[in-house]
Amino acid sequence: MTPALHIENLTKTYKNGFVALKGIDLNVQPGEFYALLGPNGAGKSTTISIIASLVNKSGGRVSIFGHDIDTDLYAAKCCLGLVPQEFNFNVFEPVGEILVNQAGYYGIPRREAWNRAERWLKKLELWDKRKEIARNLSGGMKRRLMIARALVHEPKLLILDEPTAGVDIEVRRTMWDFLREINQAGVTIILTTHYLEEAESLCRKIGIIDHGQIIENTSMKALLAKLNTETFILDLEQAL
Ligand code: ADP
Ligand code: MG
Repeated sequence: MTPALHIENLTKTYKNGFVALKGIDLNVQPGEFYALLGPNGAGKSTTISIIASLVNKSGGRVSIFGHDIDTDLYAAKCCLGLVPQEFNFNVFEPVGEILVNQAGYYGIPRREAWNRAERWLKKLELWDKRKEIARNLSGGMKRRLMIARALVHEPKLLILDEPTAGVDIEVRRTMWDFLREINQAGVTIILTTHYLEEAESLCRKIGIIDHGQIIENTSMKALLAKLNTETFILDLEQAL
């Protein structure tokens, strides 16, 4: 089976010489809900920015549903929806238009784009806000807008970079339910987090990244069993 995401020996050295990724290997299978857990500065956002072609890699290969980002970028991007860790809306664009324009990038005609925008805005409880300027929305609404925007072309893989950082537990739970529903509908999901309980609640598979390396890549079940051994708790506490 073609993996949803295949990463091979991915390296990244930033322009200032900082080595952020030291050879990441990762395979996520279609339908999985995968957590990439790691402390601040571990390399989570760097990895995700490279997958989404927002940042150039230094070495290695990345493919999304078999489409190599070096040779087949548009097809790779069509399979991917991204919710970045940080986003700013500096354009005075209404919420509905943001979704329609995003759909347009993927070649979805305007009429169909509006249908999809309506569907996702309703699902994310933003339909009432469709005419609002995005940057006037609350923090939680902006995040939901970014999720709707990531889903409007109905990608097979959804990647969210710390989607619940800084949101309260109620909002976090609502988002978890929504993500579970999307995953059950067949969308492969990868999320980064530094909350172990978030990974535990959502994901069957987990990778732990630290200092630009995957130090653990296993099932949630196996990780939890391992957590019962004292030495690993110490290692993990140091890593997180
Ligand atoms: P995480 O998302 O896991 O918190 P990041 O991928 O954002 O980690 O960052 C990994 C490391 O790379 C950090 O030490 C960060 O300071 C460094 N870094 C990120 N962006 C840049 C950049 N543009 N130039 C130099 N170093 C960077
Ligand atoms: Mg980050």
